[in-house]
Amino acid sequence: MTFEGDYFMCGIIGYAGGDVDPVQTLLTGLSKLVYRGYDSTGLAVANSNIHVVKREDDLDALKRAVEEPFELTGTAGIGHTRWSTHGKPSDDNAHPHTDCKDRVAVVHNGIIENYQSLRDELRSVDHEFERETDTEVVPHLISHHFKENLSPKLAFRRAVEELEGSYAIAAIFEDRDEVMVTRRDSSLVLGVDDGGDVRGE
Ligand code: GLU
Repeated sequence: MTFEGDYFMCGIIGYAGGDVDPVQTLLTGLSKLVYRGYDSTGLAVANSNIHVVKREDDLDALKRAVEEPFELTGTAGIGHTRWSTHGKPSDDNAHPHTDCKDRVAVVHNGIIENYQSLRDELRSVDHEFERETDTEVVPHLISHHFKENLSPKLAFRRAVEELEGSYAIAAIFEDRDEVMVTRRDSSLVLGVDDGGDVRGE
């Protein structure tokens, strides 16, 4: 998995829509992103729970992993090819990342510059961090705002307001058939077709 060149970027993809198998859609999307270079891959789908599969390996390893005998279905999903900036390449540090209760999963392209101070604040209110990435703080921050009884959408917005750095982020939530996205100094493309949906607000 080598990449010749001087420009490395990860990739993110999200899918929402009930008619198409999200896992296959995500894998197809990831296969179109690997030219950018990557050290790990992963995906998550949402139904009444969040299911995450990720590997510090190539996309074929992820494809094999999702064929393992458990049902990986959902109406929304996110995927990632990682080029690590914070934390070594590993299964644990691969995206998606989740909060303590696995209610939200996040993929992220870029760097969260203030992740350390956010992590310290969240630790002081009982969030536990298990990974080395800057990204892990994002699902915990969203989850923290759930506790203020905010809706997923408002919790996502509130969390994003606190982030510093560059990012394209996609998030899914348990029991919700949608992907929430945001970006700052990173590109993000939204598409609509018969098998997917974009709801703008
Ligand atoms: N900073 C994040 C990490 O190291 C995302 C890197 C990327 O854009 O792939 O996990």
